Amino acid sequence: MLKGKAALVTGSTSGIGKAIATRLAAEGANVMLNGFGDAKEVEALRAGLERDHKVTAAYSGADLTRTDDIAQMMDQAKAAFGGVDILVNNAGVQHVAPIEEFPVAKWDLIIALNLTSAFHTTRLALPFMKSRKWGRILNMGSAHAKVASPFKSAYVAAKHGLSGLTKTTALEGAEYGVRANLICPGYVHTPLVDGQIGDTAKARGLSRDDVIKNVILAAQPTKEFVTVEQIAGFAAFLCSPSGDAINGAELSIDGGWTAQ
Ligand code: NAD
Repeated sequence: MLKGKAALVTGSTSGIGKAIATRLAAEGANVMLNGFGDAKEVEALRAGLERDHKVTAAYSGADLTRTDDIAQMMDQAKAAFGGVDILVNNAGVQHVAPIEEFPVAKWDLIIALNLTSAFHTTRLALPFMKSRKWGRILNMGSAHAKVASPFKSAYVAAKHGLSGLTKTTALEGAEYGVRANLICPGYVHTPLVDGQIGDTAKARGLSRDDVIKNVILAAQPTKEFVTVEQIAGFAAFLCSPSGDAINGAELSIDGGWTAQ
């Protein structure tokens, strides 16, 4: 379905991004990976995509809090593939603390990575997409792009901001075949959430199972985690012709969390 297209998936050495990169490769897209991780494991992932899906896979270790790194990553994608047809702005981190205790450096990091980096990749990717009259920009939002939870000020602010960027991108790209949407997952059991389970268990003196059942999944009516494969399948759908009219939408995949 995506043969001949090139996808850049930020934060794809782990979790949701890794699943999306793998699924897009399975659909035939060439893929550029990005994110941190053990060099050998990242290389195994990259080589595995090429071997299993007969596509070209590249890797950029760009730190997306650095504007220069982002520009270099986009240049690398241009050199490898001519440009980026599918941009998945997925990299993100979390920090949990009350506002009055929220470390200023953590606020700056979360806004830079979860929000500002998507502005930079988008502004650098759009000219190629517009010239091709086709493009897909998938921004990784969250239920927290729509509703708040206490102690997640920076994350909630960044994800709400990303919603605004997505809608603006959708309007500017609309007549050029470019579609921009915000994917809004509920809880997914990735390393990002696993850290929160451990921290909460310690802080509240609960078992990990109690935290999962009574804290993490309390907000999710299905009482089940969303899986990375479900999000990757949804991303592939948005890149298919069936996604042609979906633009500027906040798309929940959260087991009913934000229906409440
Ligand atoms: P994860 O921790 O498994 O993966 C995060 C990825 O971002 C990794 O590849 C990491 O190396 C990369 N990264 C971190 N800092 C970076 C930096 N400075 N520059 C470049 N890459 C960097 O997390 P995940 O759960 O897969 O989260 C991915 C996205 O999904 C995030 O935007 C997150 O907010 C969002 N999300 C996650 C959940 C969830 O429950 N896990 C729910 C809703 C939304």
